[in-house]
Amino acid sequence: MEFTTLAQLTEHFSDKQTCIDYLTNLRWAGNVTCTFCGNEKVYELKGATKRFKCAKCRKQFSAIKGTIFENSPISLQTWFIAVYILTAHKKGISSVQLATDLGVTQKTAWFMAHRIRFALKTKSFETQLDGVIQADETFMGGKNKNRHADKKVPQSQGLSVNDKTPFWGMVDNDGEVRTQVIPNTQAKTIKPIIQKMVKEGSILVTDEWQAYCQLRKNYLHIVINHKEGKYVANGFTTNRIEGFWSILKRGVYGIYHQVSAAPAPLL
Ligand SMILES: [Zn+2]
Repeated sequence: MEFTTLAQLTEHFSDKQTCIDYLTNLRWAGNVTCTFCGNEKVYELKGATKRFKCAKCRKQFSAIKGTIFENSPISLQTWFIAVYILTAHKKGISSVQLATDLGVTQKTAWFMAHRIRFALKTKSFETQLDGVIQADETFMGGKNKNRHADKKVPQSQGLSVNDKTPFWGMVDNDGEVRTQVIPNTQAKTIKPIIQKMVKEGSILVTDEWQAYCQLRKNYLHIVINHKEGKYVANGFTTNRIEGFWSILKRGVYGIYHQVSAAPAPLL
């Protein structure tokens, strides 16, 4: 089921039961298994709330068990609206704005946004990309001259990126994006990320950065030589991933104002 407007979504999820049924179907597609022991024999409990009881461990559960919605006083309807808003706003949304839209406190909105972002880091959102993949690195971070004396980064004058945080990003033709904070842009850092996240045999479109050279074995590698002023090669470009970076940066600049460099999760 796909929703293209917020109105459609709120109309569909008009009550708690519809939300639970949706989650139940999304999670198990008819084959409910116990969330405690994995047993496949479960009974649906009487009543309208789609609760189940395991035939083996005898514990009760519902589709909410183990999800970001568990143990929350916020209604599922409000959660679903939050997921929609957070994923539909390209440049992000502040917790203050989200709080206003949902009718909850800023503290609650902040907490919800964090849970939803946490969910986006889980495995089901990390399927391999395939087809034509545009890949690129970028650097984010403020200017050294604006930093407090005790936070200034040494040797970061001129074109240096010592004081910035490198990011790696990839996008496929459907607009599916994968990004990651990386410790550096060396081949030994980037190569395993590509191998993990891009299906072998895909077409990989990058700029001329030398760290990409070793990828020819597993991918059809198209290089767009930006240094030579080229932006298209045989119809391929890296415009989409660059557009993504620019939207991300506008979000950081205009919505979040300040982000800190998270420790890089290497795979
Ligand atoms: Zn069980």
